[in-house]
Amino acid sequence: MDFEDTPDQAEFRSKARAWLDANAQRRNDKLLRGMEGEAAFLEAKEWYAKKAQAGFACLTWPTEYGGAGLTSLYEVIWAQEVENYLTRDSHFVIGIGNCGPAIMHFAEEQQKRELLPRMASAEDVWCQLFSEPCAGSDVAGLRTRAEQHDDHWLLNGQKIWTSGAQHSDYGVVLTRTDPTISKYRGLTLFMIDMRQDGVEVRPIKQMDGGQHFNEVFFNDAVVPDNYRLGEIGGGWTGALTVLMSERLAISGVQPTGFPQFLDLVKSLELNGEPIANDPLVRERLATWYTQYAGLQAVYKRMITAVAKGGIAGAEASMGKLVGAVMNQEIANFVCQLFGQAGIIQDEQLSPEQAHFQKTVLFSPGIRLAGGTDEVMRNILAEQVLGLPQEPRADKGMAFQDIPTGNS
Ligand SMILES: Cc1cc2nc3c(=O)[nH]c(=O)nc-3n(C[C@H](O)[C@H](O)[C@H](O)COP(=O)(O)OP(=O)(O)OC[C@H]3O[C@@H](n4cnc5c(N)ncnc54)[C@H](O)[C@@H]3O)c2cc1C
Repeated sequence: MDFEDTPDQAEFRSKARAWLDANAQRRNDKLLRGMEGEAAFLEAKEWYAKKAQAGFACLTWPTEYGGAGLTSLYEVIWAQEVENYLTRDSHFVIGIGNCGPAIMHFAEEQQKRELLPRMASAEDVWCQLFSEPCAGSDVAGLRTRAEQHDDHWLLNGQKIWTSGAQHSDYGVVLTRTDPTISKYRGLTLFMIDMRQDGVEVRPIKQMDGGQHFNEVFFNDAVVPDNYRLGEIGGGWTGALTVLMSERLAISGVQPTGFPQFLDLVKSLELNGEPIANDPLVRERLATWYTQYAGLQAVYKRMITAVAKGGIAGAEASMGKLVGAVMNQEIANFVCQLFGQAGIIQDEQLSPEQAHFQKTVLFSPGIRLAGGTDEVMRNILAEQVLGLPQEPRADKGMAFQDIPTGNS
């Protein structure tokens, strides 16, 4: 693929850069001071609304759904430019990156026109309600029930690890509608209003002090039938659309830690000498630079495939696996370099040390979210290396007959 800009693309790039210069903080100024909780969320919403007004949100979505109607190549240009800035887009990745494509594909026209523009402008925030206490990697084993009553459904059950549910107006929820058939065929996907009676969000406090995700309980929560995404029993196909979009969306924003590490190495001294002169640091720098450059090449290959109408395939799994491990390794290494000061978590005291310390504590989660390391390896083993599928003991069994710890 030719990575040179056409005149139109060059114009878009310079507009994007000018807008970012005026509205975002450059990465090499300093690390973004993290506000926590509600304040951070409100600032993020304001930032995203401005970005949408300027025409830089949802670049590939059709204009009637609030997008800019451009090709994926413009998304790549935006991603290349935005990499140099610190932004607060992460609250919207799940909605716009994961839920949006499924809604676009499966929702009725009226719902698309009503809900997608509000999602694109960050007026509404969305979450993804898939994982349950006993269904994470094996999400098709979930137990939240949806029962049909005339023109609506009643949902009962529990979700867990739902990122951003505390701020969300809507969610995409995967449910079991028929336990008498195989686990993949008895699932149905819905959109749900998160502010209604019968939906209870309980925060989970993390070890880094943050509160990123939640438990969500459904107690006779009502979902109108026109909020169903796809066929009854077709939930697995919808869920795969969400999960594939998730891998692509994560690949665009997943932290690797490398740019921050590079900035740090340029500024830090050890025993009166630039730390970049230390052989161990140089060795780490070279290793992580190689991985980082490889990830960028993989990302371009993936975007090229998507731009040609393909899907985010094994490249997304490879990017996720390598990037998440690297992010954790870099944070651990940097905290060792900082010595005792590496335990500082107070951003007012030292934004840099706090950033890496918080990354040490949150990076294990990145290795789980969106598919664990082992799940990524299984995908690569089966889809790239052509190794035999792992044995699936419940294949073809009715969901209700699959033995559980209680049976
Ligand atoms: C930061 C973060 C954000 C998240 N956000 C969301 C969200 O917004 N919405 C949502 O629905 N979920 C979310 N999740 C949940 C996430 O999808 C699950 O944590 C993930 O799918 C793993 O499921 P689990 O935690 O139940 O672990 P399990 O599936 O119970 O896995 C436990 C261990 O067993 C291994 N394992 C499992 N199956 C296999 C296998 N077949 N082969 C080899 N090893 C295996 C796993 O790799 C892991 O090490 C989030 C998680 C995190 C950490």
